[in-house]
Amino acid sequence: MPRWGRLQHEYRGTLDCRGRCALLHESGHLVFDAAFGAHPGVRKVSAGFIPFFAITHEPVTPLKEFTISSAGFWVQHAGSEYLLSRRPNLRDEHAPVAKGLLAFNVLTSVMYAGAAFVQHGPLERDTRGIAIGADIPEPWVGVSILAPAVLDGARYYRPRSRALRWASRAAKIGGVMLIVKAAENNGQR
Ligand SMILES: [Zn+2]
Repeated sequence: MPRWGRLQHEYRGTLDCRGRCALLHESGHLVFDAAFGAHPGVRKVSAGFIPFFAITHEPVTPLKEFTISSAGFWVQHAGSEYLLSRRPNLRDEHAPVAKGLLAFNVLTSVMYAGAAFVQHGPLERDTRGIAIGADIPEPWVGVSILAPAVLDGARYYRPRSRALRWASRAAKIGGVMLIVKAAENNGQR
């Protein structure tokens, strides 16, 4: 497929996917909000690129806060991992939806990481919740979100690279493992 065709897919898919892909991410939060009985609510906020709203919840313990705030990224990680593992030739396929989902996941993570680095955005922003839950500085949370996104983006272009594949998986697992910090933090309350 010519380069221009690929670019068109990636661009069109990303635009088409915005609403549905954001819902996927939010559904991750909602599952745990419901599981923890945290009574979720919705507050509209503006964040440029995606039609955006913040899911609010009642105050919860650090471990639950970490889990609820992380869950949107976990859904993204799972989706990207599935696509990149099952469809190594994705870049050459006619697949605007799959390409759009992957591009959305990467861009959303980059956007969240940016907010985490400058520690700015709505109070409900995921990276702040993760930082409070695990008791680590928010910019480090940004690193843990940015690393898998950059590596997944690279995997899309270099699907044969085992090093990239395992680095990206390790980065995702590393982010999830911060839950150990959140559990420790939980115990100290
Ligand atoms: Zn979120």
